Amino acid sequence: MATKLIVTDLDNTLWDWFHVWYASFSAMLTKLEDLTGLPAEDLEPEMRMVHQRVGTTEYTFVLDEMPCLVERAWPRRPSEVFAEALAVRARVRRAETRLYDGVFDTLRRLSSAGVRVVAFTESNAYWTEWRIRKTGLDGLINVLFSAPDQGFPEGMSRDELRTNEPSSYGLKDTEHRTTPPGYLKPDPTILTSILDDCDIAPSDALFVGDSLIKDIGMANGVGVPSAHAAYGVAVAKPEYELLRRVTHWSDADVERERVLGAANAPHPTYVLAEYSDLLGVCGV
Ligand SMILES: [Mg+2]
Repeated sequence: MATKLIVTDLDNTLWDWFHVWYASFSAMLTKLEDLTGLPAEDLEPEMRMVHQRVGTTEYTFVLDEMPCLVERAWPRRPSEVFAEALAVRARVRRAETRLYDGVFDTLRRLSSAGVRVVAFTESNAYWTEWRIRKTGLDGLINVLFSAPDQGFPEGMSRDELRTNEPSSYGLKDTEHRTTPPGYLKPDPTILTSILDDCDIAPSDALFVGDSLIKDIGMANGVGVPSAHAAYGVAVAKPEYELLRRVTHWSDADVERERVLGAANAPHPTYVLAEYSDLLGVCGV
């Protein structure tokens, strides 16, 4: 098949988001237990409460909104008193964030072959841009669609929070658009509008992602051929329980993911053992 457009998921498709999240978040949690003497069972429900408010589990200011930490740190802020925990999280995130093998080369070859690459994630704008810069994909992706940044501390704006040089934020060569607040896959509206914008028929595009429900289900709904990043599936790992305990997803979302077994899940057109299998699928 001659694919003209690839729409690719990012987390657990181009990089192992879950691994990095788990490694960095659990390191922060362990450090917080050490620093406060509070057990994880007391900390996790308050983290979940904050994540539910801001709609992400990657919220930089989570400690400042946890009542048990606010009380312990008073009159200072938890992020000052327990700064070591935040530093551990940042250090692990930086050390562990990398592309899956073959991703960079695959995107470079698709791009040289004239295939347009659109990235499409539910993750928030700030950390998605950070990961794209960190992995060197700025420019190899033509357009990025991400969720907007929603979670800021009470009364603070995005600009007030950015204390580094403006040039150290954002993307230079990838155009970044945000999806409407509250948008979630597999709602097909964004994928349909991407096809319209590029003036490409569904059969000339390919959607790549690790989630059968969100990614493959959405592609099937729009009639776009799909490739399942089977190597990225993380939901069955025991460590995934921590993400469920502190998640920003609703109980209904978590339950839906848990009960929708493989037998009922949407079927992809192709299954990828690694990202570079795309080259064969696209005839590049
Ligand atoms: Mg994903």
